[in-house]
Amino acid sequence: MFNQKHTEYFKSHETPFYFYDTQLLKETLSALKKSIPENYIIHYALKANPHPTILKLIKHAGLGADCVSGNEVKRALECGFKNTEIVFAGVGKSDKEINFAIDQSIFCFNVESLQELMVINELAKQKNCITNIAIRINPSVDAYTHKYITTGLEENKFGINPHEFNNLIELLKTLKHIKFKGLHFHIGSQIQNLSAFKELCTRVNEINQWFIQKELEAEHLNLGGGLGINYKEPDNEAIVNFEKYFFVFKTFLKHLPHQKIHFELGRSIVASCGSLISRVLYLKKGINTDFLILDAGMTELLRPALYQAYHKIENISKLNDPIEKKYDVVGPICESSDCFGKSVELPETDRGDLIAIRSAGAYGEVMSSRYNLRDQIDSVFMD
Ligand SMILES: *Cc1c(COP(=O)(O)O)cnc(C)c1O
Repeated sequence: MFNQKHTEYFKSHETPFYFYDTQLLKETLSALKKSIPENYIIHYALKANPHPTILKLIKHAGLGADCVSGNEVKRALECGFKNTEIVFAGVGKSDKEINFAIDQSIFCFNVESLQELMVINELAKQKNCITNIAIRINPSVDAYTHKYITTGLEENKFGINPHEFNNLIELLKTLKHIKFKGLHFHIGSQIQNLSAFKELCTRVNEINQWFIQKELEAEHLNLGGGLGINYKEPDNEAIVNFEKYFFVFKTFLKHLPHQKIHFELGRSIVASCGSLISRVLYLKKGINTDFLILDAGMTELLRPALYQAYHKIENISKLNDPIEKKYDVVGPICESSDCFGKSVELPETDRGDLIAIRSAGAYGEVMSSRYNLRDQIDSVFMD
């Protein structure tokens, strides 16, 4: 994807920085829109990338917003999302965050425990209003993904487990300041094996039926997000196959005709359009390996250090050179986990070369930190 035009453009920017290809984002959004079946509604998971420029493009495409903090709700509103297009999830919503979201009359809280349900009811009561809620359920489905990004197994902290369903039903009957709207599920992230979503459908079908029998009919079923992308070969599949993803739900999800189907996609929308652009500071000979030391590290892109995530690494100053060397590509931070890749195949590389770390548009810039008092990372957009 990178060419001479990019490297020219990058010359005037101080590294490191995030680069976003807004054209690719627009193409992704239009592919997504074309593939959304009738009756399906998509909320974008802000936590993947809440950059205002990105949010405005996503808002423009007609998606809603899925937030996991009060500040994300605020950001979504500032970027033009309507209150009725905002959902708010998270295991640990503070009273301040709940109060703020109630005041904004957001579409729905996705509630993760019985106690949270009582707290939301109490806070709504103090404001003399009724707040919409959906119940996040832990469906015990294995997402076949990294253990740090799986969320739908019994030992995870997320959602309400089936053994509490009877208590939940009793509780819902007594709480007068909340209105039951939907059932919510989210089994994890970076899921490429679509059979996990098929399994999710089977569980949702059972759970939806159970609630209907208890006379709690959900207006919407929220299937969460988690669709994975191809980190290995970002140019082969720059846009995820959304059609194939929705087809699984079209085929296996059984619901009442008027039940709406919601999704919360993050990574699959924004990951591909972003790259971390960095410069080689030093080359260093190790005992069994050669190191490339970059001016970006885990403070700019945490995913490799946090959950051994793979990102494709390219030398974009040597686009036409043969790939004939192997390097361990590391950052400048005082932590051994500050490594972007081991034995990375690259052309013969020099100090000053520009290095692109691909597919960094999701959970990249937003997870950056100022550890070691590093500068705040900048971002650059190009059409
Ligand atoms: C993170 C998250 C998402 C988005 O997940 P992606 O893997 O980025 O699609 C959706 N829903 C909830 C509740 C989340 O926590």
